[in-house]
Amino acid sequence: MRSGPSPASKEKLKSWLRYYEDLGIQTFYRDRAPRQASPQQASPQQASTDKSVMTTPEKGTADTAVAKPAQPSQIRAATPKVNLVARGPSLFEAADRVEGDSLERICGELAGCTRCKLHRRRTNIVFGVGNPHADLVFVGEGPGHDEDLQGIPFVGRAGQLLNQMISAMGVSRDAVYIANVVKCRPPENRTPEKDEIATCMPFLLRQLSNINPKVIVCLGSVAAQALLNTNKSISHFRGQWLDFHGSKLMATYHPAYLLRNPHAKPEVWADLKKVMAFLGLTPPKGKRA
Ligand code: SF4
Repeated sequence: MRSGPSPASKEKLKSWLRYYEDLGIQTFYRDRAPRQASPQQASPQQASTDKSVMTTPEKGTADTAVAKPAQPSQIRAATPKVNLVARGPSLFEAADRVEGDSLERICGELAGCTRCKLHRRRTNIVFGVGNPHADLVFVGEGPGHDEDLQGIPFVGRAGQLLNQMISAMGVSRDAVYIANVVKCRPPENRTPEKDEIATCMPFLLRQLSNINPKVIVCLGSVAAQALLNTNKSISHFRGQWLDFHGSKLMATYHPAYLLRNPHAKPEVWADLKKVMAFLGLTPPKGKRA
C-alpha cells in the first residue's frame, strides 16, 4: 500500500506550486509511472491514461491539492496517421481557470516582461494583433527586426506574404488573429530556445484560450512543435488536420521559408485550401481556388 508524501515533501511541493503560479503557470503534469515510450511514440489512448493533471489549489486550500486524472475527452488526440499527441490540456485549460481573463489582461501582465532572457535586446514586446473573436488564428515563431521595431507581428517581408496568403483565402487580416510563440525578438533572428519558449508559451496558450478559434494555423516548425509538444519535423504532419483542445490545427510552412523556397508555395496553398474548406471561405474573384 502506497503512503502519501511526507509533510516536508508537501511543504516543498506547495512552495514550488506557488513559485510557478507566480509565473502564471497553474497546472502541471505528473507522470504516474516510468514511461514505456516517449510522448511522441505513445498512442493518443496511452497519452490519455498515463498522465494526470495536478492543478494548483485555490488560495487557502493548498493542503487539499490533489492529482486529478485527465479525462479522455480532455485530450484531443492527433490523427492516428501521424501519431502526435497535442500538448496536454493542463496549461491550456489553466487559462480557462484564470477568472476574468482577457487579452487585455494577458497583455497587461506581459508589460515590461523580463521573465526570460529575450527581454534584454528587444525594442517592443510583440503581443499579437487582430480580431479577439477570430475563427482563424495564425501562430508564428517570434518577432523579427521589423516586428520588434513596430511591436506588431508579421509586418516585414514575411508578413507581407502572409497578408497575401490571408487575402487569397478570402478574409482580411483584421478578421483573423496573429501571434507568435515568443513575444520578444531573438537576437539575430535565431530560433527561440527551449527555456524561452517554455516561459512565454503560457501566455500564447491563454491568448488561444481566450480567442477560442475554430482553426489554428501554425506557421513553421517552431510554432507547430511548441503547440504539439513534439520534436518531429514539420514534414511529418504538415497539411494534416490535428485536434488541439477543441480547435483544429493545421501546420504549414512559415512565410519566411516560402520567401527562400518559393517552390513550396503550392504545398502551403493546398494546406490553406483545407482551412478555407473547413471554415467555408471562398477566395475572392480572380484568385485561384
Ligand atoms: S519572450 Fe515572452 S517571456 Fe520572454 S521576456 Fe519576452 S514576453 Fe517575457
